[in-house]
Amino acid sequence: MNHFLSDPRFAGITPFENKIWLSSPTMHGDEQRWVDEAIRTNWVSTVGANINEVEKQIASNVGCRYAVGLSAGTAALHLAVRLAGEQLYGQARPNAGTLSGHRVFCSDMTFDATVNPVAYEDGEAVFIDTEYDTWNMDPRALEKAFELYPDTRLVVLAHLYGTPAKMDEIRAICKAHSALIVEDAAESLGATYKGQQTGTLGDYNCISFNGNKIITGSSGGMFLTDSKEDADKVRKWSTQSREAAPWYQHEELGYNYRMSNIVAGVVRGQIPYLDEHIVQKKAIYERYREGLRDLPISMNPYDVENSVPNFWLSCLLINPEAMCPQVRSDSEALYIHESGKSCPTEILEALAAFNAEGRPIWKPMHLQPIYRSHPFITASGTGRAQTNAYIPGASADVGADIFHRGLCLPSDNKMTPSEQDKVIEIIQRCFL
Ligand SMILES: *Cc1c(COP(=O)(O)O)cnc(C)c1O
Repeated sequence: MNHFLSDPRFAGITPFENKIWLSSPTMHGDEQRWVDEAIRTNWVSTVGANINEVEKQIASNVGCRYAVGLSAGTAALHLAVRLAGEQLYGQARPNAGTLSGHRVFCSDMTFDATVNPVAYEDGEAVFIDTEYDTWNMDPRALEKAFELYPDTRLVVLAHLYGTPAKMDEIRAICKAHSALIVEDAAESLGATYKGQQTGTLGDYNCISFNGNKIITGSSGGMFLTDSKEDADKVRKWSTQSREAAPWYQHEELGYNYRMSNIVAGVVRGQIPYLDEHIVQKKAIYERYREGLRDLPISMNPYDVENSVPNFWLSCLLINPEAMCPQVRSDSEALYIHESGKSCPTEILEALAAFNAEGRPIWKPMHLQPIYRSHPFITASGTGRAQTNAYIPGASADVGADIFHRGLCLPSDNKMTPSEQDKVIEIIQRCFL
């Protein structure tokens, strides 16, 4: 990769002394106080004041009745999907998955944690293609999926990179087909759709405090709901499903998914800074948009009229005519540079050569080896999982197209404007 350092196109640019991260945790000091207090008072396990406080604060900030602190966003998604399965299809055998073969329509271009819980519960994920407007689930493809599989009753939907999906359209379709929604707002805490916070837009809602999210607990997540019954059930399941008895009595499958009071201490210190992080992330997005405006690219889009993203990650999409040849296998990428053009692989390698971290777009689930045999539905009907060799113009598959032409830019909120300007300069020179 170091050939970039001797490439005349990059003359005069030196590597960053301190690595520029994609999105790293930003501590403010209060976290230490709440963690220390947990340790000082010996409330270091899965009960304590920090948990109570962060559940209260998040519920109030997001605008829901109950928030249940869990060990991860993935845990929240698992219990949300399990709850949905139980409510739709009745209680499973006590030691089995609740979806037992039922189809679930899922976002396709997302992190696999969104969709794996469907498999944990023995359901069959059917992947719904992405739309260019928000890079989220395409309502037209969802409509098509209901035409093909009208008995489906559950949709798992993510708001990618902090940008809300087209919820009115999606909710109307789900309502017409009596389907429930699990909302994965892991990346979008603080983002709003028509004035309402993500994390309140589904029937079961999940957020994450993973280390690279907009605020972090080092890890952790939450299940959000207005239903006391659902909140109680998730809390019980997350603490090994103990029944009221003098011994460990179990009538339901249990999990060790509860948030620790130490993790909650970090979250508690972070919550006051959520708005500040969003302001910083938005400034980064806008500086990229301005700085890259003369290039043949666009930024990750959002519905300016109806939604306010949290701008968690800034991404770019190279115009088709400005893509140099690029191919990817399951583990490697190759490209041939052409003057006036570039590709995600070249930009990511150039950024890495100068000590900055970008990332490919989430590789769509229908292209993942573990999910390749699952149905995949595009707006025009069924699409099959395609080969990795991407043929420009020949693909009706939006997710594969965005994966091919897009990338996540360094979006760390501690990156200074002058550091970002250098990132922008490196990207511009990739197109020379
Ligand atoms: C991070 C993330 C998750 C999982 O959250 P964890 O807290 O890491 O388990 C789920 N879905 C999406 C879209 C994510 O980005």
